[in-house]
Amino acid sequence: MRTVPPLGLLLDVDGPIASPETRRVPDGIVTALVSLAGRGIPVVFNTGRSADFVLQHVATPLLAAGLPGDARFHAVCEKGAVHFSFASLTETAARNAGDGGTGQGGAGQGGTGGDPDAGLPRATRGHGVPAWMGVDARMRLPADLESRLVRLVGDYTDTMFYDDTKLAMFSAEMNVGESPERYRAAQRDFEDRVADLLAEDRSAEAFQLDSTIISSDVEHVSSGKDLGAERSWALIAADGELPMRWFTCGDSRTDYAMADWLQARGAPVVHVDVRHEDGVPETPYRVMTSEDLAAHGFGTSEARHEEAGQAFLEWALKTTGAPNATM
Ligand SMILES: [Mg+2]
Repeated sequence: MRTVPPLGLLLDVDGPIASPETRRVPDGIVTALVSLAGRGIPVVFNTGRSADFVLQHVATPLLAAGLPGDARFHAVCEKGAVHFSFASLTETAARNAGDGGTGQGGAGQGGTGGDPDAGLPRATRGHGVPAWMGVDARMRLPADLESRLVRLVGDYTDTMFYDDTKLAMFSAEMNVGESPERYRAAQRDFEDRVADLLAEDRSAEAFQLDSTIISSDVEHVSSGKDLGAERSWALIAADGELPMRWFTCGDSRTDYAMADWLQARGAPVVHVDVRHEDGVPETPYRVMTSEDLAAHGFGTSEARHEEAGQAFLEWALKTTGAPNATM
């Protein structure tokens, strides 16, 4: 019998799950997610990061910690352009078990920079796309435009690098350890040239430049956390019952778009803001912060990013037995 899960979670990755500083997913988060999976709670990681990043930094520690094979876990990456389901991963990892992977890495330790040890494949421009991963062809940068952008990065390699794990969008990211001031100066110059290139290329019409503090992205205009929410809904609807209530969680203003989309769809949703320094906007749905979580005994009111993310997941775990619980 298929049961209706009391909640479903759409989680931004950088911030609430992976530390923005170390990129590591803390053990407490891994443990809480594995427990949620065991209770049939659907979870979608909705991120601007690449699928390869999610495989290495999120999936690897989860599988090492024993994520069940029937977990309703999915990932929507590159702001909606790429997706995969964890069910395909547990099969792949099981097949590759014994190929030297220890599978006991201890929740992400050594996951910074090293190869994954859960038997998971890479997904990069060089390695190709695994059959179980979906890339929206419509959102893929035209090959010619992409190679022109890649060539352009060649003039700025002292401050940035081309991220070849992005399968649909283009990203030039700040070199690790680069000074933000030096990067910003180079980025301004680089982005002027990107804008010129986009303006003169007719195939670039459906693409836009997004400038962030650590990267310059060229992405399809439909990209966003709202598109990610739409894809998440489809992935969850395809593998079982839809949850009674939805929770979205993120550390940026753009993450509210997940809750906006669900609210517009008529689904009951609460947004959890793990870094509300910029204030909480007026929304037609409830917003939770570390203060609310602390009031219920989860984490501290000063908790931010992954600390607040962990408090939220532990709270969610506690309420799964009581679907009508209110905050
Ligand atoms: Mg984030």
